[in-house]
Amino acid sequence: MKRKNWILFFGTGSIIIMISVQLFITGGDWKQKNEMFDLRYQTLSQEAMVQLDKQRNTDGFDTAMYLVNNYADTVMKRDIYKIKNEIDLTTLKKEVFSDIGKILFLEQDLSQYLSNYFERRGFEKDFNFQIVINYLQLIDFDTRLDIYASPEFNRSKLSKSSSAAYSPKKIKSRILVNRFFREDNYYRLSFDYYIDFSGKQKIVLRDMAASLLMSAFSIIVVVIIFMITYRNLMEEKRLSNLKTDFINNMTHELKTPLSTITVAGKTLEMEQIRADDAKIMETAKLIGKQSIHLNQLINLILEISMWERTQFQLDKKHVEIDDLMHDIVESFKTGCGNCASITQKYNLKGTKADIDMVYFTTMINNLLTNAVKYSLKEPEINIEGYKDKEKIYIKVADNGIGIDRSDQKHIFDKFYRVSHGNIHKIKGLGLGLYYVKRIAESHGGDVSVSSRPGKGSIFTVTIPYK
Ligand code: ADP
Repeated sequence: MKRKNWILFFGTGSIIIMISVQLFITGGDWKQKNEMFDLRYQTLSQEAMVQLDKQRNTDGFDTAMYLVNNYADTVMKRDIYKIKNEIDLTTLKKEVFSDIGKILFLEQDLSQYLSNYFERRGFEKDFNFQIVINYLQLIDFDTRLDIYASPEFNRSKLSKSSSAAYSPKKIKSRILVNRFFREDNYYRLSFDYYIDFSGKQKIVLRDMAASLLMSAFSIIVVVIIFMITYRNLMEEKRLSNLKTDFINNMTHELKTPLSTITVAGKTLEMEQIRADDAKIMETAKLIGKQSIHLNQLINLILEISMWERTQFQLDKKHVEIDDLMHDIVESFKTGCGNCASITQKYNLKGTKADIDMVYFTTMINNLLTNAVKYSLKEPEINIEGYKDKEKIYIKVADNGIGIDRSDQKHIFDKFYRVSHGNIHKIKGLGLGLYYVKRIAESHGGDVSVSSRPGKGSIFTVTIPYK
């Protein structure tokens, strides 16, 4: 696997592990908070029951128990004697179980009391409650009717919230408030009283909001840091690739004049050449020309490293832009032997800006050189100059090969060259547009490009003026 992929693999892996750990911790926290919630309300309920007992000497089921006793009395005195067989008995048991459940559910005062108590103490007052009968025995002098909470009878678990109060309702996390044992003349009864908060999850979630936000925040921060680091790493790699390309290009550029000079030197050593003055002159000129080229290349490299360390030292003058532009274009045309047809249109009469003429000329020359260099047909260049309230705009449009959208954002980078497939013979070091940008910026302006591959490119330089 490539280094880039390894980094991505480990980075993503670590983030996934971190998120899993966070989820694990949050899960544990959630469970703990739920348990604490239950414990809190269990303690509160028990406190409430102690108070109820102290203040009113009741457990909230007195009326219910009185009614149960009467009900049991009726059953034992009357209904039990109507039973003829096993089936009758089972039916009666079911009926008794369900009726007593209803009485307990409807006639108790505990729920209301608990709700009031919770509210007074500033806690949640809305809850559902459930009564589960564990064991019920109706008794008379000589008869006993035992009813246990068999699965069949579970139907009478009671819940205040359900519309069908007598349908069994699965409640995940009910809180046992108390287990009651009561007996009177005609019954013995054991039942549990539960409460359950339907809004519990919301409350626990609210409790955990801060820690949830913190962990979400820390995950986001880590992901962002990873992304930034990864991007920087890739950028570094890109730059180092660019540098390698540059060194290769530079070596190539330096080698060409150097080998010409070497060959010329060898030529001069030949006897038949030394006899021919014209040949000697020609070779000497060639050496001179190549030396100048070599010198220019070396100066270019020296300049770059100087530009890196220091800001441009501009020698600004207040000059009329359209005059200067005409001069630059004319000498470019002459210099390149009328290599392109160039049209110029300036709406800048009398507009002056503070510029360093040498750098400005280099900037425009670089744009013109590229317009010629990156054209496969007869180059046509249109230059336009206009202004708004603050800036002068100089547009250099060509009919060249154009630049891919993906390359457009990089072409102003140092050493960046577009790989042109079969036309990679076009020489260059990837510095021309980097200079253009640096020069424009050092004048307080900027440069931008718009281009369509195959159609041409438009470079727009802006320079502020007063
Ligand atoms: P160089 O010309 O030395 O490669 P530049 O910095 O001048 O370096 O240009 C960077 C890249 O931008 C070039 O490699 C070229 O692909 C592209 N480019 C610049 N100007 C033009 C243009 N007028 N038309 C098409 N491509 C261009």
